[in-house]
Amino acid sequence: MSPVDFKDYYAILGVERGADQKEIKRAFRKKARDSHPDVNRDDPNAEAKFREVNEAHEVLSDSEKRQMYDRYGADWQRYRDAGFDATGGPPPGQTYTTGSGDFEQWFTGGSGEYTHTRRASGSTGFSDFFNLLFGQDGGRMRGFQQQVAPIRGQDLEINASITLDEAYRGTLRRLTVRAPRACDLCDGTGLVRGAMCPRCDGSGEMLVPRTIEVKVPAGVRTGSRIRARGQGGPGQHGGASGDVYLKVEVQSDARFERDGDNLRTTVEVPLYDAVLGGEARIQTMSGTIALTIPPETQSGKTFRLRGKGMPSLGTPDRFGDLLATVDVKIPTGLSEDERKRFTELRNLRQ
Ligand SMILES: [Zn+2]
Repeated sequence: MSPVDFKDYYAILGVERGADQKEIKRAFRKKARDSHPDVNRDDPNAEAKFREVNEAHEVLSDSEKRQMYDRYGADWQRYRDAGFDATGGPPPGQTYTTGSGDFEQWFTGGSGEYTHTRRASGSTGFSDFFNLLFGQDGGRMRGFQQQVAPIRGQDLEINASITLDEAYRGTLRRLTVRAPRACDLCDGTGLVRGAMCPRCDGSGEMLVPRTIEVKVPAGVRTGSRIRARGQGGPGQHGGASGDVYLKVEVQSDARFERDGDNLRTTVEVPLYDAVLGGEARIQTMSGTIALTIPPETQSGKTFRLRGKGMPSLGTPDRFGDLLATVDVKIPTGLSEDERKRFTELRNLRQ
């Protein structure tokens, strides 16, 4: 998974985040003029800069794209880490694949825009960041027709990466699926009065975006497949519809290791509390709680906190346990006085 750098389109055009269309247009014209490769022949980066300016304008001048960009831009890092987003855009550095595994880019960032343009495929000239947000060709589907055909009416499987917290509470994924449907102008024949249908370029199909919501229940695990009934690509001419499956991957969590419905964690206990007894603060999925450490607790001892694990898939009112293993922390950087007293303690034991 290669990291994709966030692009600050506002900074690229040199406008405020609240800039209106007029300001954006003005800024774009000036920047485009200033950065045009023709007037910057001695700058090897001129073309890249010019492209960047055009890309920024492409996004900020389009209210839908801008809205989406703003939404992501506010919390880009988190989206990147989570690997998935609330509107169903592709995880950074990943593409969705179906069960057949032979095509990608089924899903776009939920623009809802209907497009079916058949064009020559090739590089879009947009940055990886742009392609990630809006899909190749800014949401239009290049060379898509051929890729879609083999899976018509079949099930779709979409990978969804979720956090452990989402698996704990359950979550929702909203996806925009561009599904092929018989062209309504030529009724799927590809011909209008003997000539190639202008709407579908003679393919007989259109791609129609549809937003579907898939409820991810509490307790899901990596490998869980969640079915959104009857939501797959519709079969052409009334053929059987496939289903959309969300294939879940629960991300590893820094705090907990999952073992079925149980969770494991480590609890650091200062030496003195381990020896004399005390109280440790322990993180659970539902907040921090106090754990009583009995006197003479050994490092490696595991406490079982009943019901503080993950909910059981299908019976979400039942929970696994949290297994907290003690890690006794030996004090370091002892003062001379402390060293003396530890020596005294050792002598007492001998
Ligand atoms: Zn048509």
